[in-house]
Amino acid sequence: MTPRNKTGATYFAKLLLDMPDGWGAVYRPAIHPSSAGPPFCARYFLLRVLLGWDRRRWVESLYTGKVWHEIMALIRSSQTVLSACDGVLQSHTVEMERQIAEFRAEHPDEKAPLVDKSRKALALGAALARTWEEHFPPPAHWQVLAIEKRFRASLEHIGVGTPLEGTVDLVMFDPETQHVWLTDYKSAAFNVQVRAAGLTFEAQPLLYRDLWDRATPEYPLYGVIHNIIQKPTIRQRTKRQPETLDEYVQRCAEWFEEQALTHPAELPFGQSFIGFARPPLCEDTELCALLRAADRWYSRPPSLTNFPRCGKASSCIQFGRTCKFMPLCQQENPNRWHDILVRNGFGKSSPDEHATTEAAPGASQ
Ligand code: SF4
Repeated sequence: MTPRNKTGATYFAKLLLDMPDGWGAVYRPAIHPSSAGPPFCARYFLLRVLLGWDRRRWVESLYTGKVWHEIMALIRSSQTVLSACDGVLQSHTVEMERQIAEFRAEHPDEKAPLVDKSRKALALGAALARTWEEHFPPPAHWQVLAIEKRFRASLEHIGVGTPLEGTVDLVMFDPETQHVWLTDYKSAAFNVQVRAAGLTFEAQPLLYRDLWDRATPEYPLYGVIHNIIQKPTIRQRTKRQPETLDEYVQRCAEWFEEQALTHPAELPFGQSFIGFARPPLCEDTELCALLRAADRWYSRPPSLTNFPRCGKASSCIQFGRTCKFMPLCQQENPNRWHDILVRNGFGKSSPDEHATTEAAPGASQ
């Protein structure tokens, strides 16, 4: 076989077809509002998004954001802060312990996730929710229109074949001004000013607006509120002088206060209100260009030449760590990839797997 044939679409399609246990099946996920635009590395996109390969790792920090979002959703559904925190923490603790036991059984060689560290990540999520609700409850007369609602819509009217899909955190209506606001919760490792720097031109809220306005034309969005909070660097004490959740939340409140006093120009939490000034998606050439660029990658037939390695150290090595797909990229013969995936503890799942979707009017899928 010539090197040319080795990278051709037919060769690669056959290789994927021959992979055992469905490893080579290609997914066609929807574009998510946070992923409009071309990928930073085409090969990474092929492996992670189209083939759904990912390293099975335990990432505690993911639980913090999840818990924060879930508690805020329950509070907006009229639960008290305390009962929302209790309910979410209890269900996550049970589920997390089950998942950790399963992870340890499936990956005996991997560094085991720590129950204690994971519990602290859950407590941090609860502390963010309680701190937020104490400082920034929405005006009492505002009405909730939607909480954590998922939408899917066709983009064929702008020449994009891949559908758009996303979950809006919260939509509220102000009866006094008749304005409808989309609320997006964001936790960050740095201060509000840094996190808010690009919000006025981010594609994500504009695409949420498209999903919402097409599904709910009687309540067109006026703008977006970003609720941004910096994650405190302190964690709940569980060994020496263990503290309750209340005590930990209090210590976090002191941490926020200290940050605000020490760096008054770099507040650790705050809100950003942005009215939508740009025209809707059908007329917005910049946004359409991003979606068309994304669509080219979502719809391209998989092959090594269609999805080249980026060849940039800045993408392959970040924060002193190599990309999780480095062992595959270093192996010139993709026939060996299956072995490498299994040996390195990868798994396969569709990016849309857990989505419960609601079709917006005119959606083709
Ligand atoms: S190792 Fe580099 S080229 Fe390979 S997928 Fe990762 S970022 Fe892309």
